[in-house]
Amino acid sequence: MELLYTRRYKVNRMISFTISFLLAVLTAGIVSNPPYGITLSHNMRAFVGIAVFLFADLFFTRKYRKRKRILYGNFPMHWESILEEYVPYFRNLDKEDKEYFLRKVQIFLEEVMITGVKIEIDDLTRLLVASAAIIPVFRIPDWDYPFLTDVFVCQDNLSEDLELLKCQDDVMGLVIYNKSSVYLSKDLLLKNFQKTDGNNLGLHEFIHKIDEVSGDIDGILPSPFLSKKDRSEWLKIVDNEMIKLKNKKSDLKEYALTSRAEFIAVAAEYFFERPVEMKDKHPSLYLMMQKMFRQDLASAVSDEAKHIIKK
Ligand SMILES: [Zn+2]
Repeated sequence: MELLYTRRYKVNRMISFTISFLLAVLTAGIVSNPPYGITLSHNMRAFVGIAVFLFADLFFTRKYRKRKRILYGNFPMHWESILEEYVPYFRNLDKEDKEYFLRKVQIFLEEVMITGVKIEIDDLTRLLVASAAIIPVFRIPDWDYPFLTDVFVCQDNLSEDLELLKCQDDVMGLVIYNKSSVYLSKDLLLKNFQKTDGNNLGLHEFIHKIDEVSGDIDGILPSPFLSKKDRSEWLKIVDNEMIKLKNKKSDLKEYALTSRAEFIAVAAEYFFERPVEMKDKHPSLYLMMQKMFRQDLASAVSDEAKHIIKK
């Protein structure tokens, strides 16, 4: 999948060109009739117009120029071994997809600031945050988290370190609607990546972040994850699964009953960590999530298992 010359890139180029051109014409017009009475020569006016165009174009295209530099450079060699050791999803990718994953990690870490709250942030934490953000959108072409600028990481319980949560207990991850940040507990982030037991704080919070793009954190993911046509089918599946869970006939975490928004975040943790089990126990839910995230992880895992047995 293309990482640089995407549809967003082309739209950015077109918008940048148009705005820069209009600014250049406007500025050339202003310097043709300066209010202070000193008229510039034709050459000087042209020079000012070109200079404004170039500066404006450089400004509006800075994100993609930076991306180009990243993609043509190397990524730190030790990243791959950290991901191999701590991220089972990465371990299951083939060579080409691993390279693609690493490039996406590189772009994410360049564009989103990971900040420790009263702690130092190491490479492992940065890579786990980036992995949690990338895994759900790995097969979605041209996806950016709109307006996500920061991830704040506390050592353990967020409410101990964040002023805004002083009155709440046991908050380990947080997404506030319409804010450009995600908050995570470092201890739980690391602990969850060490086991594929269906619990993954990082994935959970980034699913809320994706959900938010539809206009509300309501358990209905935006397009291209969930098409309008599939919306009613999705809601039917969610309602059925919630009834099963209420009647103690489901192995999803009870927290999924809090709301549809929490349901999809909990279900996604299960989907990405235990796909074979989900396909077996919740086939309709699995199929819909496979369609949303464009990943058939259960088949990928069983193909990998067959490959190992053959060896
Ligand atoms: Zn949640």
